[in-house]
Amino acid sequence: MKKAGRNLHWLPVTRLASGMDLKVAVHLLEGPTDGPTVGITAGIHGDELVPIEVVRRVVENIDIGLLRGRIIAIPLANPLAFEAFTRNTPTDMLNLNRVFPGAAGGWLSELLAGTLVDYLDPNIDCLLDLHSGGAIPTVDYVYVLNDLELSRSLLFPTMYRGSSYPGSLGTHIIESTDKPVVVAEIGGGNQYDDSYLERGVNGVMNALRRLGSLPGEVKKAPAQTLLGKMSIVRPRHGGILHPEVRAEQLGRTVPKGTLLGRTLDAQTFELLEEFHAPSEQTHLVLPRGGINKLHPGDYSYMLGDLVSAKQMP
Ligand SMILES: [Zn+2]
Repeated sequence: MKKAGRNLHWLPVTRLASGMDLKVAVHLLEGPTDGPTVGITAGIHGDELVPIEVVRRVVENIDIGLLRGRIIAIPLANPLAFEAFTRNTPTDMLNLNRVFPGAAGGWLSELLAGTLVDYLDPNIDCLLDLHSGGAIPTVDYVYVLNDLELSRSLLFPTMYRGSSYPGSLGTHIIESTDKPVVVAEIGGGNQYDDSYLERGVNGVMNALRRLGSLPGEVKKAPAQTLLGKMSIVRPRHGGILHPEVRAEQLGRTVPKGTLLGRTLDAQTFELLEEFHAPSEQTHLVLPRGGINKLHPGDYSYMLGDLVSAKQMP
């Protein structure tokens, strides 16, 4: 019988210009019996609050005496971005989730990526990487990358078979080891946080049962929509977005041509752009809540095509 326990330790990254140390907390949970080592990461993007809280609840919910193997939980992978509540690292403006596996002689975000990879690569058997819509948008789906059944076990109603982004942590793990990776996109924009927190915690706990980390019956996935085609609508102009579809319509389907929102110039009030549903059955995967600031090229909507989607019973 191994010694079970919980340990908090820190990954040192670098000394910042201010003299403060940049370090990342790791919660290491070790069960009394053998099993897989599951990595759970959140906060790679600094404005994604919901996944950080999902990790806290999961870590605190786990009965260590029942755990098989280990869980390596990193609730806040990019503390500098969280400090500024920005998606990217403010110090070098880089998106941490585009620079994995990082570089020892690189920018700060690359140093951070390299530190995370050096720790995670030799230790984990699979990765659950949690994201959300960030400060403004709201999302609700799970990627299907290299393990369909593991993705299904998170119990989200919508899944997307997309390739994950080059330079993301998930892509790095898949390309270097082909260990199972699930990326979940949970809530955001301060919309319906309680229901997304519940969805995230329930999903991760069920995935841990499926992986054999926790005892108990694996809940059967509900009927799920597996999207194969997704449009990421990137606006030509910034301004103030006045949404017609809102976060409560996330997951619903609207017909082609439906007005989703319009961008007005913040100063002149002129209409700059209108956004319309592109496909016959447009599945709303990422909308934006109330009126909000929109940057050129940002994620204004993510829209699935339901006609080509597969319904998973
Ligand atoms: Zn993210």
